[in-house]
Amino acid sequence: MIHYLDNSATTMVLPEAAEAAVHMMRETFGNPSSLHSMGIDAARVLKESRETAASALGCAPAELTFISGGTEGINTAIFGAVRKNRHFGRHIVTTAIEHAATLQACKRLESEGFEVTYIQPDGAGRIQVDDVTAALREDTILVTVMLVNNEVGTVLPVAEIGRAVKRQCPHALFHVDAVQGLFRVPLTPYKWSCDLMSVSGHKIGAPKGIGALYMKKGVRLAPYLVGGGQESGFRSGTEPMPNIAAFAAACRVRARDMQADLAHVAELNAYLHEQVEARLPWAVWNGEGDVPHVVNLSLPGCKSEVMLRVLESDGVFVSAGSACSKGHESHVLRAMGLDKARIDSALRVSFAPFNTKEDVDALLDALEKGAKLLRR
Ligand code: PLP
Repeated sequence: MIHYLDNSATTMVLPEAAEAAVHMMRETFGNPSSLHSMGIDAARVLKESRETAASALGCAPAELTFISGGTEGINTAIFGAVRKNRHFGRHIVTTAIEHAATLQACKRLESEGFEVTYIQPDGAGRIQVDDVTAALREDTILVTVMLVNNEVGTVLPVAEIGRAVKRQCPHALFHVDAVQGLFRVPLTPYKWSCDLMSVSGHKIGAPKGIGALYMKKGVRLAPYLVGGGQESGFRSGTEPMPNIAAFAAACRVRARDMQADLAHVAELNAYLHEQVEARLPWAVWNGEGDVPHVVNLSLPGCKSEVMLRVLESDGVFVSAGSACSKGHESHVLRAMGLDKARIDSALRVSFAPFNTKEDVDALLDALEKGAKLLRR
């Protein structure tokens, strides 16, 4: 029996999404650029999928480009914004708790002579607007922050940050990494004064390899893939129609069920908290998760990597941090100032709507078993 509680790393493809992909592979497999009816049928699916995805992102269909996922969206936004704005300055603002896609892009820019300010979180994983405001300068050309942190589940104050950016640095572009926010919190890029926003399909029940980049009307970054001129000339290459149709199908299901899913996941979160307090009262919660789908806790004395193996032997899957950290110490928990014992024993539990109380019970049984074996 599998108890998969690592849904922020990736999650199971929804049956509706899988069906849509297979349909595009086996039936409506024309190239959307072809002029014959097979192409026209595919182009119709592309148009409808864009409308569905745009509604999930809270933007107009013409503002949405299909891309391969969060990493591509983030890289495209960051390098594109810097290229567009470099004559205004060389300063970038981000946070110390971003995903590796953002941090590595910023590192590369630093090596090319750009200056990056990394806003530090407080001990609960929160980013204060005042710290961002204080970091903004006349030569700031890009502000890029995440909406929901993938390790501790804090929600960043993107609306306030966006307002400050537009007030203090009218030239600067504002990018939001909304990968962990899609269908967890409403996406309202217009209200956030957001110019660019990235999301990823494989976190919501679409296959891996699809995502979307919102680019506000008028914010035209230089095309970075040239060729056949697909995606309004911004991203050339034949559109991955099976993935695009699957992404739209996942968006339809998740939009329809969003409120019920959130309520269900909040119930699982509350149950996990209550049971941990009762059965493992010495466990420590990391961060003040604002969203119910991400929970981070430490079991001091039980090394994460070893605990993961114990859990896995009982069919329970969680992670020690983000999947991308691959066993390295979490930069998020470190930035929060947690001590080594807490960082070394941290576990991230992340829920999807298909999870049940039985999954939480299995996790708790396995944690108790692991703690007996490992706790020194
Ligand atoms: N941003 C955040 C907050 C994430 O959690 C992830 C994936 O874990 C990404 C970006 C990268 O997305 P993708 O895996 O689609 O490239």
